[in-house]
Amino acid sequence: MENAKIHAKDNIINGMSVDVEDYFQVSNFEDKIDRSKWSSCELRVEQNTLRVLDLFDRHNVKATFFILGWVAQKAPDLVREIARRGHEVASHGYHHQLVYNMTDNEFAGDITRTKEILESLAGKEVIGYRAPSYSITAKNFSALKILYRCGYRYDSSIFPIHHHRYGIPDFSRFAVDIPVDGGESIREYPISTVRLFGKNLPVGGGAYARLFPLALITRGLAGINRKEGRPFIFYFHPWEIDPHQPKIACSRLTRIRHYGNLRAMERKLETILQKFNFQPIKDI
Ligand SMILES: [Zn+2]
Repeated sequence: MENAKIHAKDNIINGMSVDVEDYFQVSNFEDKIDRSKWSSCELRVEQNTLRVLDLFDRHNVKATFFILGWVAQKAPDLVREIARRGHEVASHGYHHQLVYNMTDNEFAGDITRTKEILESLAGKEVIGYRAPSYSITAKNFSALKILYRCGYRYDSSIFPIHHHRYGIPDFSRFAVDIPVDGGESIREYPISTVRLFGKNLPVGGGAYARLFPLALITRGLAGINRKEGRPFIFYFHPWEIDPHQPKIACSRLTRIRHYGNLRAMERKLETILQKFNFQPIKDI
């Protein structure tokens, strides 16, 4: 069995990532739960992320954890534990504000504050960033320059698809260096998609991995490795393996997006972790 697993794996090492936020902090509930109420919500991110760490240990996988500054301050031991177990600590901003809704100064303040909090807990330099809800798009593309100026060296916020909240549909599907000031560049690792009927279909994780059949996701990911010879970037959230999280009243569409197939997610992740090789994004 062990040999079969190893044979099935390709030599390509993909990027595994976790966006560390709680169930009440997602953009889908932004208009339902005000940030001032966050402290009164039941905090489940710590126990769920510890389950994610155990899941990775079972498969001998190291990953990148994009952590909210707010979560890091509420659960500092969690950040230390992520670093202690050999994973990359990276930034998801302070309190999940969409980047295109902030001024340049607000954004610079948000990512600088979060970088300092995470570095003091992890004891390592933080160089990676993922925007809340992939909110770096064509209209605020210059955010990449601000990231570089604030000490970040890579970004993984661009989703090359059409979505009402995010996406640059015609962006590169694979890692690319984006020029910033002074002849320097910042590397962008877009969330993975497959080409189908002339369009990019998201297969890189989250709700897509929960809602689409597992075979479709694994076939798509395997195609990226085998047919295109490239690593893929996969992501999910700790609340996606927590079917017992408190339910928040919402529209039918949000219900499907947030609560759909939560029960199946951990088993799906087990399969994906077994089938493919992974490493933190900074090591790709
Ligand atoms: Zn997020």
